Amino acid sequence: MSNYHIKHFEEYFQVYRKSVSKPESFWEEIAEEHFVWRKKWSKVLSWDFLKPEIKWFEGAKLNITENCIDRHLHTRGDKTAILFEPNDPNDPAEHITYRDLHQRVCKFANVLHDKGIKKGDRVCIYLPMIPELAVAVLACARIGAIHSVVFAGFSSTALSTRINDCDAKMVITSDGSYRGSKSIDLKGIVDEALDDCAGVETVLVAKRINSDIKMKDGRDYWLQPLLDEAYHDFTAIVMEAEDPLFILYTSGSTGMPKGMLHTTAGYMVYSAYTFKNVFQYKEEDVYWCTADIGWITGHSYIIYGPLANGATTVMFEGVPSYPDFGRFWEIVQKHKVNQFYTAPTAIRALAKHGSELVEKYDLSSLKVLGSVGEPINEEAWHWYNDNVGKKKCPIVDTWWQTETGGIMITPIPFSTPTKPTYATLPFIGIQPALMDENGNEILGNQVDGRLCIKFPWPSMARTIWGNHQRYKDTYFSAFENMYFTGDGALRDEVGYYRITGRVDDVIIVSGHNLGTAPIEDAINEHNAVAESAIVGFPHDVKGNALYGYITLKDTGESRDHDNVRKEINQLITDRIGPIAKLDKIQFTTGLPKTRSGKIMRRILRKIASKDTSNLGDTSTLLNPEIVQEIMDNVL
Ligand code: ATP
Ligand code: MG
Repeated sequence: MSNYHIKHFEEYFQVYRKSVSKPESFWEEIAEEHFVWRKKWSKVLSWDFLKPEIKWFEGAKLNITENCIDRHLHTRGDKTAILFEPNDPNDPAEHITYRDLHQRVCKFANVLHDKGIKKGDRVCIYLPMIPELAVAVLACARIGAIHSVVFAGFSSTALSTRINDCDAKMVITSDGSYRGSKSIDLKGIVDEALDDCAGVETVLVAKRINSDIKMKDGRDYWLQPLLDEAYHDFTAIVMEAEDPLFILYTSGSTGMPKGMLHTTAGYMVYSAYTFKNVFQYKEEDVYWCTADIGWITGHSYIIYGPLANGATTVMFEGVPSYPDFGRFWEIVQKHKVNQFYTAPTAIRALAKHGSELVEKYDLSSLKVLGSVGEPINEEAWHWYNDNVGKKKCPIVDTWWQTETGGIMITPIPFSTPTKPTYATLPFIGIQPALMDENGNEILGNQVDGRLCIKFPWPSMARTIWGNHQRYKDTYFSAFENMYFTGDGALRDEVGYYRITGRVDDVIIVSGHNLGTAPIEDAINEHNAVAESAIVGFPHDVKGNALYGYITLKDTGESRDHDNVRKEINQLITDRIGPIAKLDKIQFTTGLPKTRSGKIMRRILRKIASKDTSNLGDTSTLLNPEIVQEIMDNVL
């Protein structure tokens, strides 16, 4: 019997030991007992971190959609697979059963086929969070086309860069999208992007907002009439284990986005196995991840992981602030959500508006709360735990990356005791290492260093599309025979991991390495502070000094800024030490963020250093106007 479902802490250790002492036989058992294959593998794993080349389940044949849909039809045909909650709370939610999903994916695959899409072709999907998005992704997987989902908040330049980078033949989009009270002209953005994309032959357009749009003859087609005419069955294309499944660009917090390539079998096994355990999903549960499918979190934990487990997964079209900041909780109450997975940026935004809107709703269905995307600061952790989880729901602070395909360091709820700001322990099969600057592994506990992974796991990205050298340079060159994550971490006295921030953001002050997360965490403890970001700037004596950008909560009362500055530095001194005190503190109405909601420290660093002639790639920036405000007021 394999260990598909871990139920208590001792079992975690036992399974973990097995997974690292005999990785091949461990993953083979999981793959064998919990998935359907057209043909079994001849070799579980072959790897070489120098080339680098990683292969899992070589020789196996499968189609991931048979695992996510077809195999559930007998037992879960009438179960809701996707529960669609529209932008407008007055519009009805849509329950798409596994049987409906099968039919919709098959029809869509037939449309792709009729438009000349073949195995290996790249299809760019630029859609809002509507069912067509999930269906399009699965239809690509069914026909063996490589999907590249681009978040529908990206600009036309960001879109055309991504379309050209992977040489997509087709774009799937909609006339427009709703975001809260606004509607966005998506098709217009696509048209602009396509002026620079000669390789795109076909554009399929879903109707969402009924706007008047231009359709280009011979290139653009309304999707619905094609679906209406399509046949309701489509035999899934047989894929090799290592055939590409999708390309996904990283969020761009640190520079030019990278098109990470994920392949089929290993990704499927790992996303499904992590989903089951990290969320402790049970058959009747309703699970909701608030991420957009344009990010890896949405790929692995809205679509593939949940569906491979026959789960009910909520897909929400709107935003947390519409019609008001209670929307998330209204949805939890309405659909009796059991597992809720969101990002620290959302938690901080909601916390900023107080707890009254949370208290209005019945959240008693909740069992597990999740966080992903950035370090969750202690204050936000407690707010989430106290107000949303009512201190009864374990919080899983899940650390992972686009590159890792699935969750890497996380508590297992009801097993691993949680600790605020700690992602805690490696997931099954994951072998982390902390490295020093000289390339030596730092052993023991109560240490910190650069976070690496020593051994392959099934869902790791296999390359950067079209640029294997960059893949090698970025992830496998800093440390010999290791995957380098780019993040720093510390390991506490019991072996729990805490992510301290990106290594590129580490600031050396008077010879001390300071991670951004612990300092921001201390600042955010101040009751007037909503959010903060710190960066280094050149300093004659210390080498670098610290510059803090801080947004305050809207409490209505005015604050004496100098007092707040003093109190913040006192908090830092108490919690970390005087070495981490901020030399400059600038109050601002917002922080520059990526479209996935992450603070872009590289831009803040340039502003603090008064080096603003070239801010680097800003196409992934959500709120460019804030950059101007910050530059105008720089200290
Ligand atoms: P880019 O690689 O283009 O700069 P990105 O790193 O923001 O973009 P993602 O792959 O979406 O793109 O994000 C992964 C990163 O997010 C991690 O490397 C880490 O820095 C941060 N992160 C994710 N989850 C957590 C977490 N639970 N705790 C701390 N940091 C996290
Ligand atoms: Mg990254």
